[in-house]
Amino acid sequence: EIVLGIESSCDETAAALVAGNRRILAQRIASQDEAHRPYGGVVPEIAARAHAERLTPLIEETLAEAGLVLANVDAIAATAGPGLIGGVMVGLVTAKALAMASDKPLIAINHLEGHALSPRLADNTLDFPYLLLLVSGGHCQLLLVEGVGRYRRLATTIDDALGEAYDKTAKLLGLGYPGGPAVERLAAKGDPSKVDLPRPLVGSAEPHFSFAGLKSAVLRAREAGVHTDADVAASFQQAAIDCLTDRTRRAIAVSGGITALVLAGGVAANRSVRSGLEALAAEHGLPFTAPPLPLCTDNAAMIAWAGIERLAFGQSDPLDIAARPRWPLDPDATPARGAGV
Ligand code: ATP
Ligand code: MG
Ligand code: FE
Repeated sequence: EIVLGIESSCDETAAALVAGNRRILAQRIASQDEAHRPYGGVVPEIAARAHAERLTPLIEETLAEAGLVLANVDAIAATAGPGLIGGVMVGLVTAKALAMASDKPLIAINHLEGHALSPRLADNTLDFPYLLLLVSGGHCQLLLVEGVGRYRRLATTIDDALGEAYDKTAKLLGLGYPGGPAVERLAAKGDPSKVDLPRPLVGSAEPHFSFAGLKSAVLRAREAGVHTDADVAASFQQAAIDCLTDRTRRAIAVSGGITALVLAGGVAANRSVRSGLEALAAEHGLPFTAPPLPLCTDNAAMIAWAGIERLAFGQSDPLDIAARPRWPLDPDATPARGAGV
């Protein structure tokens, strides 16, 4: 089985061909970082236009690199939400056109499901059920992944996502966009114990997250002007990791029978975050897994893989399926106090 995956929900335009045996036959990612950099964040109109310009050539290049044509593909999987609606529509409409023209099934993928199943693309030993810490630009959640399409949300952030906190911290420190990798680099040069920052919600019974207060504390520390930016960055990162590990420890305590602790989403590309969670897993005698760094941030291989997982259950979607700007993975989850999806 070979699935063509398409991703366009934020500021990465991406296409990938993935086979059922977990081989990534070819993939292309066009980052729009340069286009958004002058604005310090993603501008939806610019993103949608860039997706529209780049996606079709990118799909053609991906097919050519794999030496395949559309007729060799078994299904077309595209992100159908959640995300910036203009970009999502570009990807989904393109996928529909290709599915119609080639008479292949369309699989509409929840972007978060792409992140949630991405560790299984790289690790063929990873079985359900696993506890997933999904940390990205728009989300910070703990999910019990019981199977394909079976996600139970145990916790979410009551304000900012961690990737968002990284990006805002980067902006405060004048590090530009995108912020996560820049903060990680600067943090490596600082002392994480230098600046006294809060650990919001640490110790609370519910395993929820909160990062808005941490971000404000970074702003105050910066304005006080006592510490170096590297020490501020290192201390911010340490505080964030302490929150992640404390909250995840809480979730492990309330979720029985899990086979592994899994980390995914853009922030999972952070080496210190990875080692913090790996140590926590070891503390509990749990196997730990996180996708290789390029599969953490947005990519189409994870969308194609989610398509392969769904195709294995005979699942596909009608050609009139709508794009969804908001689309919770666990529709039964009640929002945390003060939170959106
Ligand atoms: P979502 O998946 O929630 O819809 P998104 O698709 O915009 O959001 P991802 O691409 O999954 O987000 O992740 C991007 C986020 O990850 C950004 O906030 C970025 O700063 C952060 N990030 C990327 N690399 C690192 C890193 N090395 N350290 C910390 N954060 C990082
Ligand atoms: Mg991006
Ligand atoms: Fe993402």
